[in-house]
Amino acid sequence: MLEHQVEPLFKATAPGGLANIFAAFLVFTLLSGTHHEADALWLTSGVILLSLLRIVVARDYLLKKTYSLQTYLNTHVFLTFLIGLTWGVCIFIQNDPSDEAIRNIVFLLNFGLIAGSITTLSTYKAAYLAYSLPQLLAIVLVFIVIDTAVSHYMAFAVFLSTVFMMTASFSINRSHKTEVELTYNNKQLINDLNNEIGIREQIQLELEDNKRKLEQTVAERTKDLVETNTDLEKVIEKKELAEESLQYLAYHDELTGLPNRNLLINRIDHSIETAHRNKQQLGILFLDLDRFKAINDSLGHIIGDKLIKQVAKRLQRTLRKEDTISRNGGDEFVVVIQRMESSEEAIGIAQKLIETLTSIFEIDSHKIHIGASIGISVFPNDGDTALSLLRNADTAMFSAKKAGGNRLQFYNESMSNRLRERLTLESELHAAINRDEFYMVYQPQVNCETGHTIGFEALLRWENKKLGHIGPDQFIPLLEETGLIYDVGEWVIHEVIDFISKGNIGDASVSINLSALQCGDIEFVDFIRDEIKHAGIKASQVEFEVTESILINDFEMTEVFLNELHDIGCSIALDDFGTGYTSMSYLTRLPIDVIKVDQSFIRNIDSNTTLENIVKAIVNMSSSLGMTNIFEGVETDAELEVVKKLNGSLVQGYLFSRPLDVINVEGWMSHERPADCQAL
Ligand code: C2E
Ligand code: CA
Ligand code: CA
Repeated sequence: MLEHQVEPLFKATAPGGLANIFAAFLVFTLLSGTHHEADALWLTSGVILLSLLRIVVARDYLLKKTYSLQTYLNTHVFLTFLIGLTWGVCIFIQNDPSDEAIRNIVFLLNFGLIAGSITTLSTYKAAYLAYSLPQLLAIVLVFIVIDTAVSHYMAFAVFLSTVFMMTASFSINRSHKTEVELTYNNKQLINDLNNEIGIREQIQLELEDNKRKLEQTVAERTKDLVETNTDLEKVIEKKELAEESLQYLAYHDELTGLPNRNLLINRIDHSIETAHRNKQQLGILFLDLDRFKAINDSLGHIIGDKLIKQVAKRLQRTLRKEDTISRNGGDEFVVVIQRMESSEEAIGIAQKLIETLTSIFEIDSHKIHIGASIGISVFPNDGDTALSLLRNADTAMFSAKKAGGNRLQFYNESMSNRLRERLTLESELHAAINRDEFYMVYQPQVNCETGHTIGFEALLRWENKKLGHIGPDQFIPLLEETGLIYDVGEWVIHEVIDFISKGNIGDASVSINLSALQCGDIEFVDFIRDEIKHAGIKASQVEFEVTESILINDFEMTEVFLNELHDIGCSIALDDFGTGYTSMSYLTRLPIDVIKVDQSFIRNIDSNTTLENIVKAIVNMSSSLGMTNIFEGVETDAELEVVKKLNGSLVQGYLFSRPLDVINVEGWMSHERPADCQAL
C-alpha cells in the first residue's frame, strides 16, 4: 500500500527539484550584487546539489529499487529536509531590512515553492513537513526578529498560512491515501476478478478440453464398438456356418451325402406317424453289399469308397423321389418305402435294387462284381418304432446273407429269436477259453473181438455258467464262424497231448476232430509237431478226424496239410463217411488210414437190409484201399451183431461207453467201468 501511496512522491521529485533549482537561480540573481551575494551562492548551490541528489535517488527508486522502500523514503525525506533547511537558512539570513523589496520577493518565491510542494510532497506527510516547516518557521522567525507591529502581524499571518497549508496538505494526503487504497482495492478487485475470470476461463478451457477428449473417447469407443460388433457379426456368421455344417454332418453321410442313421431314424419316426394316421404300410429295406469286405481288403479303401459312392448313385436312380435312402455306415444302406400298398411292392423295389447292383462296376479300370442282400421289415407287422423296424430288417438281411446272399428276405419272428440266442452264445463263447469253460471227454473205441480198447475219440465240451451245458453241434459252427476255432483247436491239441502224456491209456491212440478251416492252415501242423515233440509222446498215438467238408478247401493245400500231418506219424480218419457226396477219386489221393462209418448207417442196421448193403460196400471199398473201418454209434447188441457179421471189429458207441471224463478214463482202462456207462 505504502508503495502505491509514495509512488507520486518519487515521480514528482524531478519537477519539484527543477522548480527548486529554478527558484535557487532566481534568488541568486536577486541577491547578487547585495552583501548577501556570497551566502546566496553557497545556499543556492546547496539547494541545486541537494535537489539533483534527490532526483537521482528518486530515479534510482523508480528504475532500480536497489534498496528497501523505507531507505529510499528516509533518504528522500532527509534530502527534502536539507533543501527545506537550506531555504530556511537562506530566508533567515535576510532578516535585515536593508532591501525589503528583494526580501519580500524571496519570501514570495519560497511561499510559492511551499504552496507548490503541497501537490508534489503531500503524498507523504513527513516529506512535506520536512520541506515546508524549516522555511515557514524561518519566515515567522524573520518577522519576529524584525519586531515591528506589522511584522508581528506578518508572523501571525504566515503562521496561519502554515496551519492552512498543513491542513490542506494533510487533507490532500488523506484523500490521496483513500484514492490509493481505493485504486489498490479496485485493482485488487479487478485482479481478483481477472483471476476469477482466468480461473473460469481455465476451467472453461479444461471443460472444453475434457469435452473434446470425452467426445474423442466416445468416438473411439464407438468405432471400437462398431468394429467389435462387425467382428462379432463375422464370428456369429462363421459360427452359424459351422453349426450349419455340423448340423449337416450330424445328419448326413460325408462320403455319399445321403442321410445318415440319425436322420433316417427321424424320417422313419415321422413316416410311422403318417402311416399310422392314414392306416398305411411302411417298408424298411436293409441292404448290405455282398463281398464288399473282400473288395475293400484286396483293392484298398479308396476303391472301396468310390464303389460305395457309385452304389449310392445307382440306388438313388432306381428309387422313387418320395422314398428315403440312407447310408447306415460301412456297406449298409436303408431304404424307406412310404405308403406301401402291399408287400409285393417291397419285393419289386428290392429286386430292382439287387438287379441294379449286380451289373458290373468299373472303378479305376477295375471291373468289380458285387451283389446285395436285402432284409425287409414292414410297419406295423414287424415293429412300431424306427429302431425295432431297423433291427428286424437287419435280422432278415442277415438271414438272406446266410442263405447265400444276393437275395431278399422278409423278416419273421423266429429269426429274431435265433439271432438273439446266437448273439448271446457268441458273446459267451468269446470269453470261454479264458474262463476255463472248455474241457475234453474221451469216448473209447473198442476192438469187439478182443475186447481191447484201441483208442479214444476226444470230444470237446463247453459248460457255461450262464447257459449251462452247450452241445458241440451248437458251438462248433459258431467257433468256425467267429474264427475262434483256431485258438480253441490249439487248446484241444494241447489238452489231448497232455492227456496222452500222462500214460493212463497205454498205447491206445486218441483221435482229434479237425474242422475244415483248420486244415487250411499249414502253420497248424508245425504247432502239432512241436506239441508232440515237447510232450515226448509217440505221434502214432495221435489220430486226426476230418470230414469230407475239407474238400471245399483248395485241394492241393488240403493234400499238403494232411500229408504233413501223416508224415509226422499221425494217422488220418475220414469221419462221418457216407453222408457227403465225395468223389472217391479225390479221397484216394489223400493219406487216409481209417474210414469212420457214420452212425446214421448203423442206426437200425439190424432191421434195414439196404443200410446193411451200403455198409458192406463201404467195408469192401475200404479194405480194397487198404483202410480200416470204425463203426460209430453202435447202441445195441443187435447193431453190433450186424457189424460183426460184416467183418467189422472196431466199434465206438454207447453200447460200450459214452464219452468219459479224464478220471473215468482211468477207471475204464483198469476195466473198472463206470457202473452205468453214463454219458458225461
Ligand atoms: P462226431 O465227430 O461224429 O462225434 C461223434 C458224436 O457221436 C459225438 O457227439 C458222440 O458223443 C456221439 N456218439 C457216440 N456214440 C454214440 C451213440 O452210440 N449214439 C449216439 N446217438 N451218439 C453217439 P458229440 O460229442 O456231441 O459231438 C458232436 C460233433 O461235434 C462231433 O461229431 C464232431 O463233429 C464235433 N466235435 C466234437 N468235439 C470236437 C472237437 O474237438 N473239434 C471239432 N472240430 N469238432 C468236434
Ligand atoms: Ca468225430
Ligand atoms: Ca462222426
